[in-house]
Amino acid sequence: MTQIDKSKPVLVTGATGYVAGWLVKRLLDEGLTVHAAVRDPENKKKIAHLDDLAANSKGQIKYFKADLLDQGSYAEAMEGCELVYHTASPFTTNYKNPKKELIDPAVKGTANVLEQANKTKSVKRVVVTSSCAAIYTDATDTRKAPGGILTEDVWNTTASLDHQPYSYSKTLAEQKAWEINKAQEQWDLVTINPSLVMGPALNAQSATSESMSLLKQLGDGTMKAGVPNLGMGLVDVRDVADAHLAAGFTPAAQGRYITSAHNTNFLELAKALLPKYGSKYPIPKKALPKWLLTIVGPLINKSITRQFIKKNVNISWKADNSKIKKDLGIKFRPIQETMEDAFEAMLEQGVIRRK
Ligand code: NAP
Repeated sequence: MTQIDKSKPVLVTGATGYVAGWLVKRLLDEGLTVHAAVRDPENKKKIAHLDDLAANSKGQIKYFKADLLDQGSYAEAMEGCELVYHTASPFTTNYKNPKKELIDPAVKGTANVLEQANKTKSVKRVVVTSSCAAIYTDATDTRKAPGGILTEDVWNTTASLDHQPYSYSKTLAEQKAWEINKAQEQWDLVTINPSLVMGPALNAQSATSESMSLLKQLGDGTMKAGVPNLGMGLVDVRDVADAHLAAGFTPAAQGRYITSAHNTNFLELAKALLPKYGSKYPIPKKALPKWLLTIVGPLINKSITRQFIKKNVNISWKADNSKIKKDLGIKFRPIQETMEDAFEAMLEQGVIRRK
């Protein structure tokens, strides 16, 4: 049982991120002081939305310069914090060297932040933003899971440097987190494991998340001809923020939490946009056939390999989200609301031109 004192500051690593933005908002609205660790506090474009949130809340924000690969750089930001949220980690399929660009920041970065927690006597709890990617790589992994459903007991054993390296980075990073946690007794660890996160970005213009890139492609005509019918989970970014908040402040929170609202597929996400936006924007309406994808997929994006297509297209995905509902009381938004609000935020912030 870990009780966090709300008068103490709370650290959020990667505060400029898409997911972190909503977490920072929730913390500020609670009146907390947020220590926002960012790579470049001078980059006003990246932090303007956080300044706005702070100005319109009861809380306070203080920025600290830190980099996952710079040993010891989180020391100042962590000072005096009882609660640490470690969200920073690259989420992209646009990489040249997966070891350098994905694995190292995820794994060495997690070690950097958590070893700093060992040295910072105030820290009582660390919440790591892991992922369902640390549970599975391909939709076919669902079939191999006990009872045909992914649970918190399942670990990803199939990702590698050559196959879905982002999933590999999240798996190795979460394993590193548990290893460091188990070697000490000062702080407890809770992980939030979201499936694909969608919903409105607070920073759509400066967002680097793959979530935003996928959403943009659904609306700007890139995927007009159709989408791969990929089995996957979906969760709203605002529900992910609620999950982080509850994981931090619920004394009995423990272990991993699958944070996924819906067992769905990529085509359903596109279809949710059709009633409101389908007449004005080139939203995809159908699935691309598997044979066609096998030919064009690898040319469109290097992560759409033949192996990926074989193991994900037209294959259903299923995860059990009962633990987070029961332990942390999380309620999830419907797909329609998540997708429409996500698209509206893209239009409002000018990422997709309003017609
Ligand atoms: P994002 O917007 O790209 O956020 C990533 C954050 O990590 C950014 O703040 C980025 O800082 C920071 N970062 C990257 N490399 C860094 C480094 N070397 N040093 C310090 N900070 C670094 O992506 P997101 O979708 O919000 O992802 C946030 C977390 O959620 C990640 O751990 C991701 O794996 C996890 N997650 C995301 C999803 C999803 O669907 N979006 C699903 C499951 C889990 P800069 O702004 O300086 O680049």
